[in-house]
Amino acid sequence: MLWTAALCLLWASTALAAPAGGARHKVLLISFDGFRWDYDRDVDTPNLDQMARDGVKALYVTPPYLTLTSPTHFTLLTGRYIENHGVIHNMWFNTSSQEKKPYYQTLFVNDWWDNGSLPIWITAQRQGLKAGSLHFPGTASSYQGQVAMVREVEPLLYNYNNETAWRENADKVMGWFRDRDLDFVSLYFGEPDGTGHRYGPDSPERRKMIEQVDRTVGYIRRSAADHRLDDRLNIIITSDHGMTTVYRNGLVREITLRDIPGFSFRDLAFHLVDYGPCGMLLPKPGRLEKVYGALKGAHPHLHVFKKEELPERFRFSRHDRILPLVLLSDAGYVINGYFPVQFNKGEHGFDNQDLDMKALFRAVGPAFRRNLEVGPFETVHIYPLMCHILGIRPELNDGRLSATQHLLVAGGSGGTPGEWTAPWRQPWRRNLARVAVFTLWLETLRPGRKSQSLVSAEEPEPDSGPGHQEVV
Ligand SMILES: [Zn+2]
Repeated sequence: MLWTAALCLLWASTALAAPAGGARHKVLLISFDGFRWDYDRDVDTPNLDQMARDGVKALYVTPPYLTLTSPTHFTLLTGRYIENHGVIHNMWFNTSSQEKKPYYQTLFVNDWWDNGSLPIWITAQRQGLKAGSLHFPGTASSYQGQVAMVREVEPLLYNYNNETAWRENADKVMGWFRDRDLDFVSLYFGEPDGTGHRYGPDSPERRKMIEQVDRTVGYIRRSAADHRLDDRLNIIITSDHGMTTVYRNGLVREITLRDIPGFSFRDLAFHLVDYGPCGMLLPKPGRLEKVYGALKGAHPHLHVFKKEELPERFRFSRHDRILPLVLLSDAGYVINGYFPVQFNKGEHGFDNQDLDMKALFRAVGPAFRRNLEVGPFETVHIYPLMCHILGIRPELNDGRLSATQHLLVAGGSGGTPGEWTAPWRQPWRRNLARVAVFTLWLETLRPGRKSQSLVSAEEPEPDSGPGHQEVV
């Protein structure tokens, strides 16, 4: 009798978790590349403002260091710091052959991306959901042999700022949600990064581009409504990093490594510089101290670290791909190799504590509270938030759901529709499961019944416990 009752309880604790009518929460993760957290302050942005009233706005979010596009986007997809997911730069490189590939070509170097961490598409699909991605960095690669089931990678020389194409992409993604019933899609726009680089973050061109972004936000929300998705679809808009003005026109003494006394490129086996404010060097055997000594203190705005001595807060030391010497410059300065070759008016890649590197965050949908402004948090926490809303178990990651749970309705559950909440999130279900397990255990104590191993019906808490802390 007890046995039967316990099985009934276990059945109830799992069967009742299914969302009514199959109406799960869906998530659309949108990145507007290089959207600095305060870009809406000097531009009229009615659609972003409306989104904040209808949902949640964070003061800003902090990307991981190194604040470059591919590394920070992969943190959004995996919830891991860059030293843990291993996509440490926009450029693939080989220190033996001296080969380097630029951003676009690196998108297609599979083992650069597929090196141990699973993006949320793959995790969602393994747990029975459907995922897609459009232009999001990392989309072109496969992961342990799997890809996002619907995906689109931009062609070489793609025009990233065409507003008509943005609208077509938005409609395409809404079609994926409605007609192919996808649960999660990541959608990438290459602006306002391009305009910020070219004209600088304080330029009228950048302000005009923010107006275009804002119109697109309004278009996306209208498209969601037109596709009858807005009662199920949660939209998160964020970015990978900010942007800061580069000092130009002889205003400052630029950082050019060749001009530094005692420094010689002949002491290096490999170098990665001329890429904004960040650089990495591989000295030849026995030359590390010489190179380090020459660069340390050579310029007041250049900082040089042995990789293991980088302050812990950077979380940028522990991966084998990170070269032994890491260089970074203060905001406004870039690191040149032989001579100045960088002419952008705006740059990123700086210390993620710099306010100019912070990014925007907005979210709206049935899982999110309305008209709520919250303080800053790190973008590494967006991954467990998305997993929670989707009702999937996250992979090992560096984020914490507790950092963002206050953004959600009903104490952090996904809420309506169908009252879908991840099974392990429902306290009453946990209690029911506990009773069932306890009852089964009692049953095993009865004389005559052979002892059996019990598997708890309760799933582990995805956001807590040692299983979700990085172990290196
Ligand atoms: Zn970027």
